[in-house]
Amino acid sequence: MSEIELPPDHPRYESLLTRHRIEAGVEKGITSLQGLIAEGRGEAFDYLLGEGTIESAARAERVAAAHLLRADHPVLSVNGNVAALVPEELVELAAVTGAELEVNLFNRTDERVERIAAHLREHGAGEVLGTDPTERIPGLSSERGRVDAEGIYRADAVCVPIEDGDRAEALAAMGKTEIVIDLNPLSRSPRNATVPVIDNVLRAIPKITAHARELESASPSELAALIEGFDREACLEAAERRIRTGGSSEPDERSAESGTDASPSSE
Ligand code: ATP
Repeated sequence: MSEIELPPDHPRYESLLTRHRIEAGVEKGITSLQGLIAEGRGEAFDYLLGEGTIESAARAERVAAAHLLRADHPVLSVNGNVAALVPEELVELAAVTGAELEVNLFNRTDERVERIAAHLREHGAGEVLGTDPTERIPGLSSERGRVDAEGIYRADAVCVPIEDGDRAEALAAMGKTEIVIDLNPLSRSPRNATVPVIDNVLRAIPKITAHARELESASPSELAALIEGFDREACLEAAERRIRTGGSSEPDERSAESGTDASPSSE
């Protein structure tokens, strides 16, 4: 079945779309077989979170946008799952926030990096970093730690969707502002993040972009207030609570459809 044949009125449309894109990513040689496993794990958590953006995640998405806008060298790190799921959306977020796109893979091969870079360019990207990584993330062995000198290495803010815990920890140890998008609030990656966004990348990336558009004309002090008012621990706790209680203790936890109404002032 192709993407256009997926019935949009199917109750599990988003889940079918995700599976379809990941499968197509594997066929195209941009997503690894390990990526299939990561996808399965993500789906389970998404199910438990109610397959929607919870309010605490919507808040984190706004703060993530503020960080990307405020940074001098923001970078969006792209792996095989993210490239398969949200290529166009990543290009748009990079354009709105002035961020670089860098391909950064756990199971790195030059061929797969090239394919992902080409895939992003097919979806509108200009320059894509990561094809010639000359620097290393300290503390990580071999291929896993290789990064671009002009990208992740010098970045002051990095958005790492669907990252493994080791690399998230190592990036945090480099003192970078780290925005992690991951559906599992118990995973080491969001636990190490400056801003843990507990949401599906399919929903999170477009929502961060929408917030960035709204905040484009915000003053430095407005951005600083948003950033300083953010409580990462509360955000992780809210997601875990949602998973454990099914949201029954927080009937208003789900954000509105657009997800863009969750500014701190609305609470
Ligand atoms: P850690 O090493 O941090 O404990 P892990 O072993 O759980 O992490 P992996 O299995 O390598 O990490 O990575 C998969 C992670 O990505 C999981 O936490 C999963 O919830 C998350 N994930 C998978 N698909 C998505 C998605 N579409 N959106 C957001 N997160 C996702």
